[in-house]
Amino acid sequence: MKYIDPHIHMISRTTDDYQRMAQAGCVAVTEPAFWAGFDRSSPRGFFDYFTQLTEFEPARASAHGIRHYCWICINPKEAEDPVFAREVMSFMPEFLERPTALGVGEIGLNKNSRNELTIFEEQVALAADHDQLILIHTPHLEDKLKGTRLIIDALKSRGDIDPGRVLIDHVEEHTVELVLDEGFWAGMTLYPDTKMTPQRAADVIETYGQERIWINSAGDWGTSDPLAVPKTRLEMQARGHAAVTIDRISFDNPNDFLRQSGKFLVDA
Ligand SMILES: [Zn+2]
Repeated sequence: MKYIDPHIHMISRTTDDYQRMAQAGCVAVTEPAFWAGFDRSSPRGFFDYFTQLTEFEPARASAHGIRHYCWICINPKEAEDPVFAREVMSFMPEFLERPTALGVGEIGLNKNSRNELTIFEEQVALAADHDQLILIHTPHLEDKLKGTRLIIDALKSRGDIDPGRVLIDHVEEHTVELVLDEGFWAGMTLYPDTKMTPQRAADVIETYGQERIWINSAGDWGTSDPLAVPKTRLEMQARGHAAVTIDRISFDNPNDFLRQSGKFLVDA
C-alpha cells in the first residue's frame, strides 16, 4: 500500500520518522510553511526557513524514498505585524518558483484578528497573481467556525479564486460541510487523542463522502503522530471499508489536488 501525507512539518521530525513513514507506505509528503514553535526575530529568518524547506528537506526525505514538497507563506501566527509580514512576502515569489514548491500555504487565521485577515487577503492576491494553489489553516477550538466563515467570505469576494484549487485544512464535523458545499477541498488533520482522531475522521467520511477530502497528520513540534494517516487507513479497514475507498482519501484525492500545481509527481 502507498499513501501520501499532504500536511506534515518534517523539519520538526527526526530521520527515524521518515524511516517509519516509508516502512508504513508513505511515498510523498507536502510540508506547509508554518510557525516554528517560536517567533522569528527577523523576516530573514523566513528566508532561511524557505531555503530549508526547498533544499534540505527534499534531500533528507529522498534518502528514504519519500518525495518531499512544500508550501511557502508567512503563517497567521506571525502575521500580526503587517510591515514584518510584507517583507517576508517580498521574497516569496522566488521560492514559489522552486521545483518542489506547490503553492501558497498554510495561510489563514489563528485568532481571527484584523491584521491576520489583511495579510491573509494579501497572500491570496499573491497566489492569484502567480497562479498558485492555496492551502489554508483554520483556527482551532471555538474560533474555528467563525474563522472558516471569514476565510470563505474573503476568498469568494474576490471572484477570481477557483475553489477547486484551494484546500481548507483542519476541518471538523461543524465546518466540513460548509467547506465542501462551497466547492473547496477539505483536509482533516488527525491528532492522537484530541481534536480529530482516526475514529472521528472515519465517521466524517462515512457521513460526508469521499469527494474532495483528504487526511493528514500535521505532525509538528507538539503532540502529534507522523503515522496518523496509516493508522486511519487501518481504522477504516477494520470498519470494513473497501481498499478503493481507503486509497482514495489517502492517495488518489491528495494526488488529484496536488497535481494541479504542475509539479507534484508520484508513481501511482
Ligand atoms: Zn500545519
